[in-house]
Amino acid sequence: MTEPASTNAAASERSADVIVVGAGPAGAATAYHLAQYGLDVLLLEKTAFPREKVCGDGLTPRAVKQLVAMGIDISEEAGWLRNRGLRIIGGGMRLQLDWPALASYPDYGLVRRRDDFDEQLARQAQKAGARLYERCNVGAPIVDERTGRITGVEAKLGQEKAPVSFHAPLVIAADGNSTRLSVGMGLHRREDRPMGVAVRTYFTTPRHDDDYLESWLELWDRRGERDRLLPGYGWIFGMGDGTSNVGLGVLDSSAAFKELNWREILKAWCASMPEDWGFTEENRTGPIRGAALPMAFNRQPHYTKGLLLVGDSGGMVNPFNGEGIAYAMESGQIAADVIVQAHARRTPLQRERALHTYPKILKDTYGGYYTLGRAFVKLIGNPRIMKLAAERGLSHPLLMRFTLKLLANLTDPQGGDAMDRVINGLSKVAPKA
Ligand SMILES: Cc1cc2nc3c(=O)[nH]c(=O)nc-3n(C[C@H](O)[C@H](O)[C@H](O)COP(=O)(O)OP(=O)(O)OC[C@H]3O[C@@H](n4cnc5c(N)ncnc54)[C@H](O)[C@@H]3O)c2cc1C
Repeated sequence: MTEPASTNAAASERSADVIVVGAGPAGAATAYHLAQYGLDVLLLEKTAFPREKVCGDGLTPRAVKQLVAMGIDISEEAGWLRNRGLRIIGGGMRLQLDWPALASYPDYGLVRRRDDFDEQLARQAQKAGARLYERCNVGAPIVDERTGRITGVEAKLGQEKAPVSFHAPLVIAADGNSTRLSVGMGLHRREDRPMGVAVRTYFTTPRHDDDYLESWLELWDRRGERDRLLPGYGWIFGMGDGTSNVGLGVLDSSAAFKELNWREILKAWCASMPEDWGFTEENRTGPIRGAALPMAFNRQPHYTKGLLLVGDSGGMVNPFNGEGIAYAMESGQIAADVIVQAHARRTPLQRERALHTYPKILKDTYGGYYTLGRAFVKLIGNPRIMKLAAERGLSHPLLMRFTLKLLANLTDPQGGDAMDRVINGLSKVAPKA
């Protein structure tokens, strides 16, 4: 029986070379690069833009490089606020460090609210040719019973939540930390990897146009007889619009992790700030919201049976500093590079061989560095070591310059300075798990 033309048209609208689920930074970057390569891409997003995403809104030079790679106009005229580096405060010391001068990355960072940031990235993917469906809530994967491969996804589309299905030989899970799609394909979180939690809010403040990102190594657990320093930091990122994003991120390696109320700790920390900064309840312009930080490849494998994981779905947040946007976008670009090569192979076996290079490239790129990060997370989970680092570390500016490069993962792979060589050497020899 021949189907009516309109049904055929709908069917072809709903199939593509690749389906990307989730239009955060990981999904938008993947879809953009795939579309640039000329592949037919569906980008399916549960919400409608602009939409809030709980975040610090801070972008390091690594993230800036990715924005440039996507052709985003990051000029000040286009509303981007640049920063020159990081100010670190702890143990009564205050150290201001510029982003390193490197061949591989720009020497400035940016801030941008995520509602607007994510929309710009998704629209850029759309401009490149990706077909974006908003209000498209993806549910179960469609799996070929014979091979176990994913061949599409079920979704609820529009305000009326109409059931629809989308089909493609490859599907990308870019649906963030909870990644229902990966779970639907049997990929669960690894309990042996660090997790962080972060909460943030906004205040109207005179500090809104600071040109350094500021981080405080002074988060205290004040229950019990002795105050304990928590493994994490508080941040103040000026947004340049009259407000600052103020928040904290803490790692699960401390004994107190499960017992603490992070909103209360943020409130107590804000209350301890100088009065003229205005971090008061009257100046708070939004609720305190929080979410998890999935770190150090906490979901694997990153490729299996037609499904590739990018960004938070694959647990790619940097365990040293809680940064996730750059890694989300970088993994999207790597996935697109691998897919376009696989797409050009002649047989299913050859395509599969090419696709299996994706987890290998990820491990070569970040595996050793994340292993170092896991050791770091364990160390600072000990309140005494955290205290020692916060109090003594800042009195050694050279050591701190090294630490900034290590924590922000900013080195030149070739021809860097002695610090770069040490960091790259350590990452190279560390196991890539
Ligand atoms: C409080 C806090 C502060 C942070 N601060 C920073 C910071 O300053 N800098 C930094 O670099 N990183 C920061 N991070 C980490 C950063 O937010 C994440 O690493 C980053 O957003 C990951 O991008 P992603 O695209 O992988 O996932 P997400 O940004 O979570 O995007 C996932 C997308 O998928 C969509 N989606 C989910 N489920 C479905 C579904 N079923 N169907 C369709 N679509 C779906 C979501 O709506 C969303 O748009 C912070 C995190 C937190 C919690």
